[in-house]
Amino acid sequence: MVAENSFLSWSNTSLNKRSQILSNIADLIEENLDDFTLAESIDNGKPIHLSKSIDIPRVSANFRFYAHAVTQFYSESHESQGLNALNYTLRKPMGVVGRISPWNLPLYLLTWKIAPALAAGNCVIAKPSEITPMTAFLLCEICEKAGLPKGVLNLVHGLGSETGQAIVEHPKVKAISFTGGTKTSEHIARTATPMFKKLSLELGGKNPNIIFEDCDYEKMMTTTLKSSFANQGQICLCGSRIYVQKTLYNKFKNDFVNRVSKLKVGHPIDDNFDMGAIVSKAHLEKIESYINLAKTNHNMNILCGGEKLILKSYPNGYYLKPCIIEVKDNKCKLNQEEIFSPVVTLMPFETENEVLNMVNDSLYGLSSTLWTQNLNRCMRMSQRLETGIVWVNTWLNRDLRTPFGGTKQSGVGREGGFEVLRFFTEPKNVCIDYNTEF
Ligand code: NAD
Repeated sequence: MVAENSFLSWSNTSLNKRSQILSNIADLIEENLDDFTLAESIDNGKPIHLSKSIDIPRVSANFRFYAHAVTQFYSESHESQGLNALNYTLRKPMGVVGRISPWNLPLYLLTWKIAPALAAGNCVIAKPSEITPMTAFLLCEICEKAGLPKGVLNLVHGLGSETGQAIVEHPKVKAISFTGGTKTSEHIARTATPMFKKLSLELGGKNPNIIFEDCDYEKMMTTTLKSSFANQGQICLCGSRIYVQKTLYNKFKNDFVNRVSKLKVGHPIDDNFDMGAIVSKAHLEKIESYINLAKTNHNMNILCGGEKLILKSYPNGYYLKPCIIEVKDNKCKLNQEEIFSPVVTLMPFETENEVLNMVNDSLYGLSSTLWTQNLNRCMRMSQRLETGIVWVNTWLNRDLRTPFGGTKQSGVGREGGFEVLRFFTEPKNVCIDYNTEF
């Protein structure tokens, strides 16, 4: 195995050299921003202004962050007083590790794990989604120019059931870092767990957006438009269930419908549009099946959007108008299942307890967003929300040092900061007995 043969040399490469190569990769991505941006938008359907301002800058940030973070990473020591022993922990790279990622933020998410895995001294076999492989291909060229030795990062392309499966079941791959759907991860875990592989799983979500009457209304409204529909609602952190306090409900409903109806949907590489295309025909059909459900259910009311758009100049694209559906029952499919789309639900609530019960009544627990100016409420609710991330009066505000991940069926483990460097290293305790007599 090429990756295995490269491991000894890469893991013994000095920290400074590894850090320098990762910084070189970051520099080269910045120098080639336009090529990456265009490739990502064409492949995924996301508006080009989004690839240019979020996706690709974050790719170089991933490499730059871990180029520095690894030089600050440390391990613990424990002095056993009275026993005359000193324990210290070595953190060794694991060897060959696997990375499998989805299509929604293709290179952003792929490199979010590749960078720390390489920084920690591992060799990586990485598979991008078969739906969006282009920027991963461009990354290979960059890595070579940046001085990354051959065999250290191995990008493989193919279907999940074949190429992905081969990575998961290969006996020499020691750890799997997976980002994708909860159902896929069940399958991966069934294969990897009996082989005693280390697993990090970043999975689906059904994130609540909770709006109290005392919020900063304009900031909340502008941010809620983004948290609902950025990247066509295809970000794992998008808020797809909106709960609004009853006293504000009608005002919010009118204003939100008004603002959402004005969002412009169009070709991803035309800068004049707020939203681009849905990633694939299969995904569009899945979204439409939920919208059709709302059309026939008297407990659901489509307030706007949900129609397919046929662009004259690009009639074969998968375009959908952003959709708001008012629902009456928190247990309905639209509030319980991940749709991963420009479809959000809207529901009123009266009290903190009521909304907490509804929000936490979910199989998922990735993130939640809370809009209130009341500090006590913010502290109380943050304690009780069953999600790995709580945003208060903000959304997608990311500091790469913080732990990132979900509870319940949204994932296992945390990434970000040193958490992921711990994942990609094996701790080994060394205990030294010492003589106290002089
Ligand atoms: P998916 O699970 O269908 O595919 C993800 C990756 O797994 C792809 O590369 C695919 O080829 C691969 N795969 C599929 N079957 C496999 C198998 N048997 N063995 C190994 N690999 C296999 O997910 P998707 O549709 O690409 O992405 C959307 C999902 O990703 C949503 O559920 C979304 O919430 C989730 N997501 C989660 C996060 C997070 O950080 N929690 C971030 C982004 C996306």
